[in-house]
Formats: sequence, structure tokens, C-alpha cells
Amino acid sequence: MANGRGENVLTEARLRELYAGRLARRPADRASCPTPEALQALVRREGVEEQRLRTLDHTMSCAACRADFDLLRTVERAGSELAGTGRSARRTWLLPAALAASLLLAVGIGRIALAPDSDDVVRSGPTAGAVQLLAPAGEATAGDSLLFSWRPTPGATRYRLEVLNASGDVLVEAETSDTMFASEAVRRLAPGDYQWWVTALGSPDPRRSELRPLRLTR
Ligand SMILES: [Zn+2]
Repeated sequence: MANGRGENVLTEARLRELYAGRLARRPADRASCPTPEALQALVRREGVEEQRLRTLDHTMSCAACRADFDLLRTVERAGSELAGTGRSARRTWLLPAALAASLLLAVGIGRIALAPDSDDVVRSGPTAGAVQLLAPAGEATAGDSLLFSWRPTPGATRYRLEVLNASGDVLVEAETSDTMFASEAVRRLAPGDYQWWVTALGSPDPRRSELRPLRLTR
């Protein structure tokens, strides 16, 4: 359903139904996958960090868990955005196009090409190396949607992720209050050498990670 402004209207009930449907169809060969509870703890950043990192490791290399994870995040985020509006009695909300796309990917309905974020930011010499990157480690397959993640940085309220080409041009950028970002835009990058970094925003002195190489292979 479209409301004419490029956004999709979904009900929370429908989202939860989609996720429940995925869980019900969970095949037996996923016995080694983390439990739905572990995935939920990862999404909500609850529980022991070590456990969450193990779940994250698995999720990044398992397409089925990635799909569950993306869908669960969409459900959780939509729920918290709804709560934030103070209109929790209303069981319908506007789902931003980017979230709708990741939801559609997660449930295998179809694909939507996303325009990269284009808002600008003043780059005022952040302290390098102050944000610790977790994943991806260095190499990934071109065409895969990548899950970028980093450690929480004290004082940061938002993070800006940038993926650059070898010449330093920013090809993909995104801002999130989360410490991970599943980038669909990276799927469209051709095989080759890239680099990425994360800037922590929200404190008077922006802090930045190292510039980490990322090779996309065929
Ligand atoms: Zn799995």
C-alpha cells in the first residue's frame, strides 16, 4: 500500500504476522542457528555482549538468519517509533521506504532499489580511531547486502557510516542511532576495492574510526 508520498503503510499486526510466519517455516537444518530469542537480544542490544557478538558473527554469514534479523529489526523499530509518537493506540504507522525495502527483501516479496542518503555533513577533523569497527572484516561478495557494525561510543547519539571508493569519494552514506547498519545500497557496488569508516556524532568533538579496507569479490 502506498500513501502517495513514497512511504508504505503497514500495520504492526501484519509485520508481526510476517515474522511469526517465518519462524513457523524455520527448517530443521537451521538447528545450529541462534534461537529467535538470541536474535531478538541482538536486535534489542540486551544480554551479554559476548553472546551477542557470537550471534552477530553467525548472522552475518547466514542468509536465513540475516533475513530473520532484518525483519525482526524492522518490527522492533517500527514498534518503538510508534511508541515514540505517543499514538500507540493507533495500530498503523508510516514505514519509511528504506525499512519497507528491507522488509520486502527479508520476506522475499521483491526488491526495491534505494537511493543513497545524500544529506551533507561538516567534516571537522574528528579524532581518528576513536570508534571501534567490528564488521565486515575485509572481504565480502559483491551483490550481498552487508551488515556493518561497530562498538558503542560513549557520548555518541548517532553514527554516520560512509563507504568510499579507492579515491576517497563517498559512494554510500547513512546515519543511524544504532551500532549496526544493514546496507542495501552496498549491494549495487561493483566488485573492487573500497573502504569504510564510521563517525560518532552528538558530542562536541566528533570521533571517527579507522578507515577500513573492504574488498568486494565476484
Ligand atoms: Zn543461521
